[in-house]
Amino acid sequence: MSPSVWGLGLGVSIGIETGIIRARQKMGRLYIQHLSGEKIYKCKFCKVDSASHDDIVSKDFQGRYGRAYLMKNVVNISIGPKEQRHLTSGLHTVNDIYCSSCQQLLGWRYEKAYEDSEKYKEGMYILEKERTLKDGW
Ligand SMILES: [Zn+2]
Repeated sequence: MSPSVWGLGLGVSIGIETGIIRARQKMGRLYIQHLSGEKIYKCKFCKVDSASHDDIVSKDFQGRYGRAYLMKNVVNISIGPKEQRHLTSGLHTVNDIYCSSCQQLLGWRYEKAYEDSEKYKEGMYILEKERTLKDGW
């Protein structure tokens, strides 16, 4: 059986080695991206790479679960539907982000900010500190 068939519709984990293909319903084939560098934040639940320390804009954001990171980039995520949400910094359009491997909620993405002072966050991500893992550093 080819790797692309193993996970079809089952959402089963078949390992996180480089190059292994995961397949899910609707999304088609899903590739797990591996980040380079020593300081990588991983999904706490399934330990796939989530973000690089180099992409942190701020460590002083507030998420649902406490402290959160503002990141320029997060990988291995699926993006939920757009939602209007009142955050501590005002009204934003956001999309929740989920680990594409294990489907756990990891934070959200800023789609649109309405205050000029908040516009810089558009396209950036909130990564919940409580849901990430620093592996080996
Ligand atoms: Zn995960």
